Amino acid sequence: MPDIFIYNASPCRVIFGSGTLAKVAEEIAALGCSRALVLSTPFQKPDAEMLAERLGNLAVGTFTEAAMHTPVGVTEKAMAAYTAADADCVVAVGGGSTIGLGKAIAWRNDAPQIVVATTYAGSEVTDILGQTENGKKSTVRDARIRPETVIYDPDLTLGLPVAMSVTSGLNAMAHAVEGLYAPDANPVTSLMAVEGLRALKSALPRIVEDPDNADARSSALYGSWLCGIVLGSVAMSLHHKLCHTLGGAFDTPHAETHAILLPHTAAYNAPAASQQLSGAIELFGGDLGGGLHDFARSIGAPLSLRDLGLTPKDLAVAAEMAVQNPYRNPREVTRDGILNLLTRAHAGHRPIAT
Ligand code: NAD
Repeated sequence: MPDIFIYNASPCRVIFGSGTLAKVAEEIAALGCSRALVLSTPFQKPDAEMLAERLGNLAVGTFTEAAMHTPVGVTEKAMAAYTAADADCVVAVGGGSTIGLGKAIAWRNDAPQIVVATTYAGSEVTDILGQTENGKKSTVRDARIRPETVIYDPDLTLGLPVAMSVTSGLNAMAHAVEGLYAPDANPVTSLMAVEGLRALKSALPRIVEDPDNADARSSALYGSWLCGIVLGSVAMSLHHKLCHTLGGAFDTPHAETHAILLPHTAAYNAPAASQQLSGAIELFGGDLGGGLHDFARSIGAPLSLRDLGLTPKDLAVAAEMAVQNPYRNPREVTRDGILNLLTRAHAGHRPIAT
């Protein structure tokens, strides 16, 4: 435990459990609102429309064009829909893409947000908004961005395909692993990180075996909530920066990139942060990167950057980019070290602790 630490509790009301989707109406009223715009991706349009219908007069419309990386053009269309409908709050039903749209609206007009989270990405409990314009992704942090109310109804995750459950779950676990060695880690976020890892480690194999396992779905959503709080509370390092670099430069898919890189970034940093990572090491073994790789393999996660379409030349470009803007990391981030890490991840090899 650090001798001195700072812990900022993030205000957010969380309603958890099977059937809690039914609580959206009372949560809109609890925020003093009565005219919700319901948001989703095109894929989850039926969910948004069903919820709007259930809300009756409390819903003034749906906007179902949310897209990955929150393109500003989509946000502008959604803002126009919000104004045209004279909405006074947003209800986002979905994963990070839909939640990002709700946050982007709230950042512009301070709309109260209710989120019904349906993946394990964790965006619903952070004050972080990443948005893209003219091919460039930028990130903003602001108190207005953090949703006021989050509903975790595991019933809505029963339809999350197994492959997405696996990659999204590993995305959540990456928040926890990096949170443990964060420069501003504190005993409370570290407790949440280890408990989040424990819950996901137990839940994901059971979801792979039986996607309808209600207890496993509940446990995974619980773990993802805790990992999301960690993401929103402390600074992220090598792993998140590398994923951001690959996503920004080569448009690699978000959750898959996290899933593939996690064992490698953990292996890179573990020798310099074994004390901080002790809770994760207890769960995955002393060779943390290798243990995470074995776990990812056992649940059928993608293992190779090659499968995302990256070439060896791309790796060299990414390694160069990764050392351009220094940030705090347990271990020095060198071009050769990163190229080595990316080369093993490209081949899908088990990481080697060095
Ligand atoms: P996503 O929201 O893009 O969802 C992927 C697809 O799965 C979409 O078509 C979605 O509609 C569908 N889907 C979601 N839940 C489903 C369910 N239960 N059943 C069936 N289909 C479902 O994926 P994601 O990984 O949750 O989010 C990725 C985005 O979130 C990225 O843009 C990333 O940058 C952002 N993100 C932001 C933060 C933050 O704190 N700002 C944190 C994590 C992720």
